[in-house]
Amino acid sequence: MNKSKVILITILALIIGLFFLLGWDQYLNLDYIKSHQSEFEQHLAKSPWLTTIAFFVAYVIITGASLPGAAILTLIAGALFGLVYGTLLVSFASTLGATLAFLSSRYLLRDKINQKFKQQLTTINQGIDNEGNFYLFGLRLVPIFPFFIVNLVMGVTSISVKRYFIVSQLGMLPGTLAFVFAGTQLGQVNDLSGLISAPLLAAFALLGVMPLLTKRLLDKLQANRIYRPYQRPKSFDYNLIVIGAGAGGLVSSYIGAAVNAKVALVEKHQMGGDCLNTGCVPSKALIKAAKFAHEVKKSEQLGFEQSTTTVNFAKIMDRVHQVIKTIEPHDSVERYSKLGVDVKQATAHIVDPWTVEIDGKPFTTAQIIIATGARPFVPPISGLDQVNYLTSDNLWQLSELPQRLIVLGGGPIGSELTQAFARLGSQVSQVELFDRIMPREDPEVSEYIKQQFIDEGIDVLTNHQALRVEVIDGCQRLICQHQEQEVAIEFDHILIAVGRSANTAGFGLEQLGITLRPNKTIAVNKYLQTNYPNIYAVGDVTGPYQFTHVAAHQAWYSAVNALFGQFKKFAVDYRVIPWATFVDPEVARVGLNETEAAEQGIDYCVTRYGIDDLDRAIADNQAKGWIKVITAGTTDKILGVTIVGHNASELLTEYVTAMKYNLGLNKILGTIHLYPTMSEANKYAAGVWKRNHAPQYILGLLKKYHNKVRS
Ligand SMILES: Cc1cc2nc3c(=O)[nH]c(=O)nc-3n(C[C@H](O)[C@H](O)[C@H](O)COP(=O)(O)OP(=O)(O)OC[C@H]3O[C@@H](n4cnc5c(N)ncnc54)[C@H](O)[C@@H]3O)c2cc1C
Repeated sequence: MNKSKVILITILALIIGLFFLLGWDQYLNLDYIKSHQSEFEQHLAKSPWLTTIAFFVAYVIITGASLPGAAILTLIAGALFGLVYGTLLVSFASTLGATLAFLSSRYLLRDKINQKFKQQLTTINQGIDNEGNFYLFGLRLVPIFPFFIVNLVMGVTSISVKRYFIVSQLGMLPGTLAFVFAGTQLGQVNDLSGLISAPLLAAFALLGVMPLLTKRLLDKLQANRIYRPYQRPKSFDYNLIVIGAGAGGLVSSYIGAAVNAKVALVEKHQMGGDCLNTGCVPSKALIKAAKFAHEVKKSEQLGFEQSTTTVNFAKIMDRVHQVIKTIEPHDSVERYSKLGVDVKQATAHIVDPWTVEIDGKPFTTAQIIIATGARPFVPPISGLDQVNYLTSDNLWQLSELPQRLIVLGGGPIGSELTQAFARLGSQVSQVELFDRIMPREDPEVSEYIKQQFIDEGIDVLTNHQALRVEVIDGCQRLICQHQEQEVAIEFDHILIAVGRSANTAGFGLEQLGITLRPNKTIAVNKYLQTNYPNIYAVGDVTGPYQFTHVAAHQAWYSAVNALFGQFKKFAVDYRVIPWATFVDPEVARVGLNETEAAEQGIDYCVTRYGIDDLDRAIADNQAKGWIKVITAGTTDKILGVTIVGHNASELLTEYVTAMKYNLGLNKILGTIHLYPTMSEANKYAAGVWKRNHAPQYILGLLKKYHNKVRS
């Protein structure tokens, strides 16, 4: 550390140390100020310049060293110097102090923080470059964070000192004015009755509503700024235009039409989006066939002999398409038209915040919901373009079973398809970069499913980084790096399942400047509004969860907020989000798992029930898996549940309801569960929790009582 840094740290340490050691903090309270008010006034009358300079310097030191007391000093300024001089004095002293704190933070911390959090700071700095003045102005006007934190944090960003000084001074001015005004009133309080004087009450009321008013003002300013380049139409063709007819778009438009709004739903490809056509529905239909093939293989366990099946992959795929066809009417143009939605099968392009071009024709609308979904992410692996690689988009066109299949990706989609193809007879290698598959779940879940896969003949290759694809003499190979060595895996087909990218390009978002997050999903606030308050985003295009049921959940909030937001807006509720991976045995989860609970450092308790012990599971030849419940401290409040087992996704719903409505494990234990069912496992898990939390002292007393009765 260089000498000047040491000197600066010593000075700051001395100021902070002296402040607390000498107990100066006790002087910065209203009682002390009030009792010494006349003394201060005498000083001011005797030597006005000296007192003013002393006050100014004290203020700068307190704020510059990030010490507490600035608010009280501001009230004193009002009492001593009056509204105009008090405001002037505090405005400059506070800005100077804030800038000194900002500079100290920049000088002492920026390099270190830059090294450690380079990526995060790049994003913040980009935001400040785009939004800098406005962002800081907002933080100053609406004190969500204490000012000393703003000073220290801004110091490590790239904002210039001049910009910081000017924006801080302007941003703090309204708050300063309100506090100084309150101070002028305090100066006149001589007895208790003075405390309820109208001006003083008004001053405090002003302080109270200040953040609210400024937040409103800020929202308005931001909205004006963003809408300024555009001309708002005098009237609209629609109340709401929804772009994309997947789960998010369908439910949004349904809700809009149900409340008699005039709604257009635009879909450029297939009604029902990914879930119906290339996602949940075909994958679950394929999994059903694969499971059947697997069950037949196991039929000896049930007493059958020589049961075999011959997989006719083309027919299995025909059935997959038949399932899609059967469900299609639920999401069809006819159904939605009947519901009152104006369905347009065309490409939508947002021209301005109130105009959407549909097949080249402009339509005006008061509100827009973007529900354009996501597509498979294809990583830039050299040579991949030489082979006809598969994704979840084109997989469903296969009519021949791949003999040797590589599935790249160990997430839910990759794992479900790995097992399905292996059970249908493909020789599958699952390649995963990290050290385990299904990395969102607890390590024991990953390990269990990996072992299940290995038992079924799948080659699970974790810690394998795909480097390139080679095609030599018609032989296709994926070259991976594993433990510093190159490994070659031959394949006939390779399926890419390494994540999904939001569909945000090519329909006007770039031109409008809709803000994206670093992961390229659309950034929205808690009401699902983009940076244009009348444009919302739902589903995979915004995340954070890419599931059909979450898209539908968000759709309610976006439609209601878009259509009735001027009266009341609802913040989207992500507290209880369930999901499942439909491998066999299924893995279903809601809330925290054990890993997350430990990472968050909360006081939690783990309760575990083994499904291998359940009567119905034993009868059904499904005696495997477990339920793991995370509860808060010693209470029965459920924080999260992971279920591994047959029909885990169905079993989970009881916990989802319990968590949503704050019902604890005692309530589950006290509910009759039908015998013999898999759902009894939930009651037994609650029973384990109860036994583990039984009051030992009372049980001891009861034992004594029963012994006595018998003796
Ligand atoms: C293999 C697989 C299995 C899955 N399994 C499950 C599961 O079991 N459970 C689960 O919950 N989720 C599952 N998912 C995820 C689920 O499919 C998605 O979360 C869901 O489809 C998201 O819905 P959405 O409305 O956001 O987007 P999408 O369903 O993708 O719909 C977006 C629509 O917008 C249209 N569009 C895009 N741009 C425009 C434009 N400019 N103009 C007009 N139209 C446009 C697209 O054509 C598309 O139809 C799975 C996904 C995959 C790939």
